[in-house]
Amino acid sequence: MAIIGKDISEAKTLLQQGQLVGIPTETVYGLAGNALNPDAVALIFATKNRPDFDPLILHTSSVERVHEFVTQIPFPLDLLASKFWPGPLTLLLPKKGIVPDLVTSGLDTVAVRVPSHPLTNKLLSELDFPLAAPSANPFGYISPTKASHVNDQLGDKIAYILDGGSSEVGLESTIVGMEEGEVTIYRLGGLELNAIREVVGEVKVMTHSSSNPKSPGMLKSHYSPTKPFILGKLEELISEYSTKGIPFAVLSFHQKFPFLDQAIQIQLSQRGDLNEAAKNLFAAMRTLDTMDVSVILAELFPEEGLGRAINDRLRRAAVQ
Ligand code: AMP
Ligand code: MG
Repeated sequence: MAIIGKDISEAKTLLQQGQLVGIPTETVYGLAGNALNPDAVALIFATKNRPDFDPLILHTSSVERVHEFVTQIPFPLDLLASKFWPGPLTLLLPKKGIVPDLVTSGLDTVAVRVPSHPLTNKLLSELDFPLAAPSANPFGYISPTKASHVNDQLGDKIAYILDGGSSEVGLESTIVGMEEGEVTIYRLGGLELNAIREVVGEVKVMTHSSSNPKSPGMLKSHYSPTKPFILGKLEELISEYSTKGIPFAVLSFHQKFPFLDQAIQIQLSQRGDLNEAAKNLFAAMRTLDTMDVSVILAELFPEEGLGRAINDRLRRAAVQ
């Protein structure tokens, strides 16, 4: 198992040696390595079992440092950068030659983010290279939002996990780029669509393709528990699976089902708060996945605020 702690200099030493470290961010925990060292980047892909057509996000400590890695931040993405960095926003930008092709899967754009978690921001500001840091989970599984989640799955493959508590946002970053002159959302995430619209006006939202290597980041099945994950109207699903005699657990927004055992149901936010629900989503999915049941029953959330990104994750988890 890895050592879990708050020692930035230990993390720094390991990263300088080309090793990988689990790092906290406000979105989810990352599996970080030196983004400018192709061996460290290759180790990230191998450790996660991630296909090399799925490019990585480069993390750095400030908007100024982003310019070391990209040729420009075109208008109006520059407005988003100054408004939302540090924060749960990733921008797709034209890359400079210094960024290894392995990071971008050979694309001429690189995904960049300035995370806001204080521990990781301090680490980044002390390093003289950026970190490539995909979510610290085996490819396709639920993203980690606590150090213990990282340890459970990757603890035998990495030496150290920086412990920054539970991720505040709990959903991956919102990925934004330009396509044919239009601001385009490649992945819904922790920064709400409306916040982006308030700055740049209307945006195009890409939908997912199946596992098409030409469409990185838009894999349809992702963020998946190992148990079948069924979406629908919870009352109907509960009655159907009860009748069939198939053991189930229930994931709801705020509704409690008093006639069911409390131990097989999780409400993501009893007060009906979408931000709180987002924060709790992945930990709840992990807990449900370890319960002694055959299926997980869940419902879609209101299509507003972070509800859209929550629904995106729920739908992908439900693709078998
Ligand atoms: P993760 O780090 O696990 O949150 O995943 C990062 C996501 O960013 C990947 O799934 C990629 O598809 C997406 N991404 C990274 N770089 C690019 C790029 N240059 N073009 C399009 N998508 C990208
Ligand atoms: Mg991921």
